[in-house]
Amino acid sequence: MTARTSSATETEALGEQLAAELGPGDVVLVSGELGAGKTTLIRGAARALGVREPVTSPTFTIGHTYGGRVPVSHLDLYRLAELDQEDPALLDDYVTAEAVSFIEWPQAAEPWLDRITRRVEIRHAGGDEREIEF
Ligand code: ADP
Ligand code: MG
Repeated sequence: MTARTSSATETEALGEQLAAELGPGDVVLVSGELGAGKTTLIRGAARALGVREPVTSPTFTIGHTYGGRVPVSHLDLYRLAELDQEDPALLDDYVTAEAVSFIEWPQAAEPWLDRITRRVEIRHAGGDEREIEF
């Protein structure tokens, strides 16, 4: 399915809809260029999963974990993607059987993931328009 949004708020709302289909152990890969709206979509999804804290881009760490109605993990592997060899155990703190996990720039992690529930791709479509493929 492909959706179009015209604002960050609309992309957050799509994230909320996506969250309704997610539960413990689910792993959602979110791809797209810098500024596409990956974090924005994940913010909406995390809120819908009961996360009350601000959902921001992980910067000094590969991820954040939040307590919602279920644990919610948010990873950004942008820098990891540039490294040749990484310890896949890095993922273990985040991608658990209990958590709903969202992974931005997931390429480096893909070979290590036991389970991939959904793939979302976000593309710029001019101005504030985005094309979001589920
Ligand atoms: P990414 O995580 O993909 O790098 P972010 O979600 O951090 O991207 O940032 C997306 C930026 O684009 C935000 O500043 C947001 O306000 C803006 N934006 C404008 N239009 C949209 C849209 N339709 N969907 C998502 N973000 C949008
Ligand atoms: Mg981001």
